[in-house]
Amino acid sequence: MHTALITGSTSGIGLGIATEFAKAGYNIIFNGLEPNGAEIAANIAKEYNIKTIFNGANMLQPTELQAMVKQGVETFGTIDILVCNAGIQHVAPIDEFPEEKWNAILGINLTSAFHLSKAVWPTMKANKWGRIIMIASAHGLVASEFKSAYVAAKHGLVGLTKTLGLEGAPYGITANAICPGYVKTPLVEKQIADQAKTHGISEKEVIEKIMLAKHAIKDFVTVEDLGQMAVYLASNNARLITGTAMPMDGGWNAQ
Ligand code: NAD
Repeated sequence: MHTALITGSTSGIGLGIATEFAKAGYNIIFNGLEPNGAEIAANIAKEYNIKTIFNGANMLQPTELQAMVKQGVETFGTIDILVCNAGIQHVAPIDEFPEEKWNAILGINLTSAFHLSKAVWPTMKANKWGRIIMIASAHGLVASEFKSAYVAAKHGLVGLTKTLGLEGAPYGITANAICPGYVKTPLVEKQIADQAKTHGISEKEVIEKIMLAKHAIKDFVTVEDLGQMAVYLASNNARLITGTAMPMDGGWNAQ
């Protein structure tokens, strides 16, 4: 039985990924800032007959991240899979971009992945097996205006992934980034409302003219699609896939 630590797994994509790992029989360390995190973890354990724990470590606090990894290893004996998914967004032109938002986005979306990878590394190295999966973004590969911090953080995450792929090779540890296009989660619902206000257009127009305009296939990616890809990357069949940044973006990156 394998154990997966999934950050930001009490909402959106992280919860979708956790659900697919649960269906596949993995034990899960849940994390996130949602106040009902422990309840979500307990419900999934019951529904899929697996073991789960919840740890509310804040991605901006390295000591809390180290303690979460320690708790996971003490509870399950090992952590085999790390999914760095927690993330936030802020949209503003560069000359108005608040410094504290830049620092928070870099800290939560990028630096936490460094601290967590470093913390799980000794266990994975000792096991001669490990899987690190970063939830980057299409914005890890291309830019959009007004998202300076997010684009910088996600490009950084792709760079970290490549380095971990190389360093993990002798130890059976792979590292890969998944780069989703738009997924309708609470993070994107908020952007739809904000952009409608900023541009003075309806939410339907934001979806059609701004968001899905980037996708060649005019549909949102689902959390189940992403969960299935993560479960595949964690499998033995994916042992030679490492250091990659895989788009699941309806063809956005092909343009
Ligand atoms: P979401 O807001 O639904 O979930 C984000 C999760 O991260 C939540 O559980 C939240 O509690 C957690 N989180 C935020 N700040 C945290 C902190 N300081 N400490 C601990 N946990 C924290 O968002 P989502 O859309 O599911 O996004 C998940 C990831 O997917 C993010 O990294 C995001 O950049 C990426 N992504 C999202 C989309 C999309 O269209 N939704 C597209 C590409 C990439």
